Formats: sequence, C-alpha cells, structure tokens
Amino acid sequence: MFEKILIANRGEIALRVQRACREMGIKTVAVHSTADSEAMHVRLADEAVCIGPPAARDSYLNKAAIISAATITGADAIHPGYGFLSENAAFAEMVAEHHLTFIGPDPKHIRNMGDKVVAKQTAKEAGIPVVPGSEGAIPDENAAVEIADSIGYPVLIKASAGGGGRGMKVAQSRDDVREAFTTAGTEAKAAFGNGEVYMEKYLGHPRHIEIQVLGDKHGNVVHLGERDCSLQRKHQKIFEETPSPALNRAQANEIGDVVVTAMKKIGYDNAGTVEFLYEDGKFYFIEMNTRLQVEHPVTEMVTGLDLVREQIRVAAGLELEFKQEDVKFEGYAMECRINAENSYTFAPSPGKILGYHAPGGRRVRVDSGMFAGFKIPPHYDSLIAKLIVQGSTREECLMRMRRALHEYVIDGIDTTIPLHQAVLNEPTFVDGNYDIRWLENFVASRNAK
Ligand code: ADP
Repeated sequence: MFEKILIANRGEIALRVQRACREMGIKTVAVHSTADSEAMHVRLADEAVCIGPPAARDSYLNKAAIISAATITGADAIHPGYGFLSENAAFAEMVAEHHLTFIGPDPKHIRNMGDKVVAKQTAKEAGIPVVPGSEGAIPDENAAVEIADSIGYPVLIKASAGGGGRGMKVAQSRDDVREAFTTAGTEAKAAFGNGEVYMEKYLGHPRHIEIQVLGDKHGNVVHLGERDCSLQRKHQKIFEETPSPALNRAQANEIGDVVVTAMKKIGYDNAGTVEFLYEDGKFYFIEMNTRLQVEHPVTEMVTGLDLVREQIRVAAGLELEFKQEDVKFEGYAMECRINAENSYTFAPSPGKILGYHAPGGRRVRVDSGMFAGFKIPPHYDSLIAKLIVQGSTREECLMRMRRALHEYVIDGIDTTIPLHQAVLNEPTFVDGNYDIRWLENFVASRNAK
C-alpha cells in the first residue's frame, strides 16, 4: 500500500481524498496556488507545496510543477480528484514515467473515452446501447445534411473533444444543419483545439442517468447502481439522487449488468461512470467519465462504501474485496451542489465568507472546505460545498434535505441554497417527474414572475 499520496486538486474534493487517506493511515501532500495558501485542504494536509500563481494553467494544470512536488516530498502516488488533470492521459503517463502511481484507470481508457467518437464506438462494440447518429466524425456539410435526413429531425451536432456541455448545436430542420455544422465546428476548434464534430438524434425529454462502476487490475468489475442527474442548468448538474425516481431496482440492475459486461470486455480498472440519456424506457450512452465524479457521495450513502478508498486500493494493485452480489443498496440519497452564485442571475459570487455554520445531525454529510473568514478566490469553479442526505424513503430524504438547507448559514456571498429550497418545494419535482429541461423551464418561469 502507498505511504504518501499527493492530491493534485483543491477545494472540497482535495479534502475528500485527504479524508480517505487519513482513515487508511496514508500521509498526504497538498498542492496549492498562491490564491489558496489559506485553504482548508492546505491546512489539514501533512505537507503542502505551492505550485504556482492563481491561474489554473500555471498551478493546478501545471504538470511539471505537480510531478516535482511529488518527487520532492517522496510521495508514491497521485490522486487527481475531478476536473483539472483527472482526464488527461498525457499526465497519467507522465506520472508513471516518474515511477509514481496515477490513481485512476490505465491511460489508454482515459484517451479512448476522452474522444467522444472513439468512446461511442468503443461502447457500441462492447454492447452498450448508444444514441442513433453518425458513424464517427462528419467529413463535410453535404454529409451533415445527408446524415441528418436519415436520422430525422431534430438533430444535435456535438464536438468529438467536447466537455462541460460546450460545443453542442441543435438543428431543427434541414435548413439549420449547414449552419449548425459550421458553428459547432468553429466553436469546438476554438474551445478544444479540435474542430471534429459528430451527430446524434436530439432527444426531446430525456433523463440523465449514470452508472457507477469500479474495476480492479485483475479483471473484476462491479456496478454500484445509478444516479439520476437530470436536474441541470446549461448542461451542468445541480442536484443528484439515487435511486432514480424513473427506475425500479430490476431496471437499474439490468443496465448495470450491461455496463459491467462491457467494462470487463474492455478491461476497465478503477472508478468510472457511464452516462446515459433515458427516454421512453430506453437507455442511450452519451459518454464515460474515467474518474471520480462530483456526485459520488450519493452512491456512498446508499452502498456504505468509500469510493476513494476503493480507488486507492485498486490502484495499488489489490483485488476488490467484494462481488456484485455483496453490494447492497439501502434507502435513498440526494446531493445539492452549493455554488457561490446568485440563485436568480447565476452570476459568480466570490469573496469573503463572513459567517459559516454547516448543518449536521442524522444522515447528513457536508463535503466542503469552507469556514468563516475564508476568501473564495475568483479563479476557479464556483462549487463550494456539497450537501448530501440519506433517508429510508424518498420522502424522508426530501424532508431531511429541506431541514439541512434551513440550517445552512453561509454569510457574505450569494449561494444557490435559495434555488434548492425553491426546487424542493415544487410539486412536480417532489413527485420525481423531471427531465433534463425541467430546471431551465422552472428558472425561466420563476424569473418571469
Ligand atoms: P459534455 O461532455 O459536454 O458534458 P455530454 O455528451 O455528456 O457532453 O452531454 C451533456 C448534456 O447534454 C447531457 O446531460 C444532456 O443534457 C445533453 N445532451 C447530450 N446529448 C444529447 C442528445 N443526443 N439529445 C438531447 N440532449 C443531449
């Protein structure tokens, strides 16, 4: 087992990984930019190394500085968290070249799944259902029209190198296709340095349902059920729950088994998430994330597992300690992502936290590095806390989340707590009847009042 792990991230996820390490008796090294010198992940680590100025490209994305920090401190592995370098195959390879272990899958999986055209092809060949669409990248405008005609309108043009919901364009009719093809390509080129695009049928009212998997280096793979992440704004998840209100356990296990079979076929190791759109009883693969997800705690709440601990164990070459039939799902869990943003305009709200009181009590978990006096830097993602609760029924879970949000005090900045409170009182949401467009419609009608 590793003796010392460097955590190449910041904020709540750096703290999350640190907690697992400490509970396993593993020493931790924090890295930070000059903007994060006072951050909780730095204060609580055994050692900390400053790796550069505030801009992420010079610090948290600075591969050489991070590898040097690991070498100097004598760390034997690097956990990348999510975001930043977590899905960077070149970084994972560089880590290995420096005789360190990357806590994540084999870099070949990161590379394959990072290219969405390759990912879709890989998924399809491994037996996972995919969204009907183009066979690979689209060569030119005329081909785009031909393919769109054969799929049927509306269609969605997506960037092969896409991520974070960027580089997607909908075409409602034949007239729109040429323009959508050109703008999507230009945007993708600007955002990702790769203008390649592909096409999918545009689904009208899907839910976003994803399957968590865990594999080791010995060919064992299990799934840990699903998460429903349909509550989204601008393709960004805001709230997640498990089990999905749209599925029963048998349906969830059925798609879970399809995913496990596919992951065994490709030899996937470590934690990963296979994302689907779900509409009219059918699942359609959209992408795979080859890392820990922001919303992993809801899975931990219902399975009782520690996903980071499992990631560390399998990266160290150990076998999974349990089989599929040992995985038990207990009750319901929900997560509210709390962002430093205005809950009406969604304008970022960095700045100093003047007062802070986190909720507690039975079956409540708060993952956050916040404290009174902390100055949230403007340079990074606006996620500042995750509030997770568990309940024996979905109703109990909703009641508990409402009371936990009521207890949460974050003074000095705007947060999305009021948005969550409004959503949790909306009858259609309470009934579980929401799809990926529900939140945007809700926000638009609320703001019109
Ligand atoms: P990214 O990697 O940029 O997040 P995804 O492929 O995961 O891109 O898609 C992000 C979101 O975009 C999905 O959760 C869904 O809301 C929407 N989306 C993606 N593909 C489709 C589709 N074929 N039809 C309708 N909506 C889609």
